[in-house]
Amino acid sequence: MNYFSTRDKSQSFKFKEIFLRGLAPGGGLFLPSEIKRYNKSELNNLSKLSYSELATEIIYNFCSGDISKQELKSLIDKAYKNFEKKNVVDVKKIGNINLLELYYGPTLAFKDIAMQVIGNMYDHLKVAKEKPVNILVATSGDTGSAAIASLNNRENINLFVLHPHNKISKVQRKIMTTIGESNIYNLAVEGTFDDCQKIVKNLFNDDDFREKINMSGVNSINWARIICQIVYYFFTFFQLKKDELSFSVPTGNFGDIYAGYIAKKMGLPINKLIVATNENDILQRVINTGEYKPDKVTPSLSPSMDIQVSSNFERLLFYALNENDQKVDLLMKNLKDKGLFKLEINELEEIKKDFEAVKVSDEETLSIIKDVYEKNKFLIDPHTATAFGAINKVEEINEVVALGTAHPYKFFETMKKATGENIEPPVQIKKYLDKDEKFDIIENNISKIKEYIHTKIK
Ligand SMILES: *Cc1c(COP(=O)(O)O)cnc(C)c1O
Repeated sequence: MNYFSTRDKSQSFKFKEIFLRGLAPGGGLFLPSEIKRYNKSELNNLSKLSYSELATEIIYNFCSGDISKQELKSLIDKAYKNFEKKNVVDVKKIGNINLLELYYGPTLAFKDIAMQVIGNMYDHLKVAKEKPVNILVATSGDTGSAAIASLNNRENINLFVLHPHNKISKVQRKIMTTIGESNIYNLAVEGTFDDCQKIVKNLFNDDDFREKINMSGVNSINWARIICQIVYYFFTFFQLKKDELSFSVPTGNFGDIYAGYIAKKMGLPINKLIVATNENDILQRVINTGEYKPDKVTPSLSPSMDIQVSSNFERLLFYALNENDQKVDLLMKNLKDKGLFKLEINELEEIKKDFEAVKVSDEETLSIIKDVYEKNKFLIDPHTATAFGAINKVEEINEVVALGTAHPYKFFETMKKATGENIEPPVQIKKYLDKDEKFDIIENNISKIKEYIHTKIK
């Protein structure tokens, strides 16, 4: 399978290269040159598979040539062995909404589902055999711990995790800063997630530095994460056995919902993909008005969605602009130089065929958590609550699934505020709660961060 850049279709890469680089030269994102489309009988065959078997079939479409199917199967089996649920995820009915629970991995958020596979891919592709690999990742709270849980103690790999200082929940930080061993470095950057993401992107575009430290990345712009996330859209569809489904997705960097979009391109009968945002509603604004204009980040009750620069949206733009790479490049230049870009009406119409977008405020989030708890005696975390809230605001939606992206314990203070209930820590993380946190506070300054990395890996 070959890959190109959203900003330059003439570039060509193999899976191993795009897996390692994360970001294309010149700043674009990678997309595959082909997307397999399943017909009805093929879908019927897939519907009989276990989660791991299904994951193997789907992911193999995107990495054939670099990993054999058998090897892929074994690294997926290994990745999902430690999940609480045999089939990795669970689908429940909460009132009239189907809930897809994605938080049964080691760090209690959906990020584990892709990250556990990715860790094994690093080993399998032998990328760190000759020279140590230094992985950089920016996190809004959950990617960091999932990356640490996956890359902990792997030979010849160091991981540097940048999170926005004091802007993630206490439990998110606790997990992230206690589970790591000596190859893990946590940096609390005095800034927002967008600042962290910008630093990481700039370092990837710094050829000199990137090559010197043999840098790699596992942020949600890494295509390998998206392909692992496509799987649960299929799995849910096969579980529920409806003709067609819509999905409501708590959205930040547009990675998780983009996986749903690719599932639809692969032939899964998806009606609408509902983008649920919090106060940081850039995606809601661009999908409803056509103007993409990042604002200041406002801290909210759903911190993993406190993002204004939603990177994976560029991958949707590529298709909405009729695969015109030059135009994507132009819009991204406008964004950089003028702080915004605007879509034409026909481009926006293209997006609206597949997407709805809704903003859910903190106040609404609290009342949804309370309401769901009172009616069903069931707790949903603040991110998942935005997905429930968005469903209530969209008209003419029939069978719909909300993605449950994190375990409520990760946000126990908000849960207590909404419901009065205290949540017990789940078994997966109990052992970390008495451990000391290990992280370094650092200025929001790219030179300082380069220096930090240099001193740690010399
Ligand atoms: C990362 C995250 C999101 C947002 O996912 P994106 O792929 O960035 O859109 C939503 N909820 C939780 C709990 C998360 O950790």
